[in-house]
Formats: sequence, C-alpha cells, structure tokens
Amino acid sequence: MKNIAKKLLIPILASRPIAAVANRFFGGGVPVFMLHRMDDENHARAGGTRTAHLRRCLQYLVDQGYRFTSLEQIVTTLREGQPLPAKTVVFTMDDGFVDQATIAAPIFEEFQCPLTFFVITGMLDQSLWPWDTQVAWITETAATQTLATSVAGKPFTLPLGSVDDRRHAKRILHDAIRETPSDAIKKIVRLIASDAGVVIPDTPPAAYQPMTWDMARQLERRGIQFAPHSVSHNLLSRLDNDKLQQEISDSWATLDRELLNPLKVFCYPTGRTGDYDARAINMLRDSGYLAAVTTTPDFVMPVRTDEDLLYSLPRFSLPDSMEDFIQCCTWIEYAKNNL
Ligand SMILES: [Zn+2]
Repeated sequence: MKNIAKKLLIPILASRPIAAVANRFFGGGVPVFMLHRMDDENHARAGGTRTAHLRRCLQYLVDQGYRFTSLEQIVTTLREGQPLPAKTVVFTMDDGFVDQATIAAPIFEEFQCPLTFFVITGMLDQSLWPWDTQVAWITETAATQTLATSVAGKPFTLPLGSVDDRRHAKRILHDAIRETPSDAIKKIVRLIASDAGVVIPDTPPAAYQPMTWDMARQLERRGIQFAPHSVSHNLLSRLDNDKLQQEISDSWATLDRELLNPLKVFCYPTGRTGDYDARAINMLRDSGYLAAVTTTPDFVMPVRTDEDLLYSLPRFSLPDSMEDFIQCCTWIEYAKNNL
C-alpha cells in the first residue's frame, strides 16, 4: 500500500505545476545548517551533537545525491543575482571551541564537505569567556538540585534534577539575561554563580576551552574557512554605537591578521530577531561585509544585492532527529520519504 501511494503521489508532487508552486515556497532555497558543541566523551556537558548522528546526516546527503557547497559560494551566488543551486546544503559551526576543531572538523573532512567556522575572536585570543557559556557551565556543574536566583530583581526557582532540567534552566536564564544592559551582565552572572554555589574560574575550564589561532591556521590550510562571530558574543542590539562598531570591525581585523583567507560574512551573537538591529546591518554594509547570518530557521532564498535580507540570512540548527533533518533538506525529499 505504501509503495502504491508512493508510485502515485511522487509523480504528482514532482509534476511541473505542483513542483513549480512547491519550489516557489519550499524549494529553490538552500538550507544552511549550524552546529554548536559536539558531544565530547572526555567532558560531561549537557548536550552537543553526537558524532554518529553527524556522520549519519552527512552520509544521508551523499546517498541522496546532495551537493555540499561553501557559505562563501552561496553568498557569491546571492550577490551576483544567480539562481541558487538545487539539492545543495551548506554547513557552518559557531563559536570556536576546541572540540569543534578536534571532533567536528575531521568528520566534515571525511565527507569532503566544506565548513565555515564563525569564531568569537576574543575567545580565541584567550582573553574572555563569553557570558552565555559561563551560564551554561553554572547550570551544568551546580551541585544543588534546585537553583534559586534572580536576574535584575526577577526571581527564578529552577529545578536541576536532570540533564533536561539543566538545559531548561540555562535557556530561562539566557532569555532573562538577554533583556538586561550588556554592562550589567558580568555582575548578574557572578550572582547566579554564587546562588548556585560555584565560583567562576578566571580561565575557562577544560570543557569550554577555545581552539587556538594555531589550530585555526591548520584547519584553514586544510580548506576550512573562518568568519567573524563578534569579539565578545555580546548581543549587538544592547550595545551603544561605539561598542557595536568595535564588535564588527575588530573581529574582522583580528581574523584578517591571524588567518590567510577569512570570509567577510558576519554571524550575529545568538542571532535571533531582536538580538541585532538596523544599526548593525548598516554598519556591516558600510564596513564592507558581504552578508550576515542569523539563527532564524528557514531556507536561504534568492535576495537582491545589498538588500537587508542579505544581512539576515537564515540558518537551521542541525536537528537531533533524522526525520527533522530530512525535512530541513527539502520539502519534496521530506514528502517522498514519508509517503
Ligand atoms: Zn554563538
């Protein structure tokens, strides 16, 4: 029955009028995937992409005849006003932690899949430990089963009984802290740490070590590209104009100094709507950036050069389940596989 349905429906779905409409809404777009941390057996952390899952996703794409391309190529295609290639996917990875260089990069190389790293340059300079990863570390390591704390006077009582509880607590605290002014964040995070009964170390613990610039240079020689993800990972929309310009200009200047072939495409810290604003888009354009990426889940669709959309390109977080991953790849592929 399943096969008959498949035989009947696939030609209908793939027929020109239906495919044209489907392509208008679902196809003709390229999914750009983003990854964050990898599941690292040496360091217990809440979450992270499992290596077996990443391999399975990449193998699926190879088996189904997808093409891997680089973010640089897609940005060039968009800027030239060319149609986007069909059945093509792009992979990016944010932040610049050591596990991303040692665990993730070799897997992408194994599949000959281009990868673009968006790195927090202050972190690779070994001069800062971003506030949001400090909060992650606090919620992962707190010895208590409940965290009673507050953010800018607002009280929170958060259960920490399970890994999921801890992830949830991290999200709640991130969302609350995002609403506060950037110069208040350091103090707020200290207070949360003290309420959780932990002391934030001066330098990141092993599970939060950034990759070094030497590692980045080695990866670059192997064909992996790097692009800026700000200096400090502070939310751009909370910064005054001078600090905003610093995040945009200094992160590029550092990459340009440290590496041979960085890509001038910006990645907004946290990257949700409201985390960046029109000032940031204008500064990026004026500073010669080619494009910028967000964390809004959607397909990249053709845009006109210099349109604001070029500075808010969407990306899908790599889904944890194979079904969701396939759905992100294309609508028609998803339909075929589910019939
Ligand atoms: Zn980030």
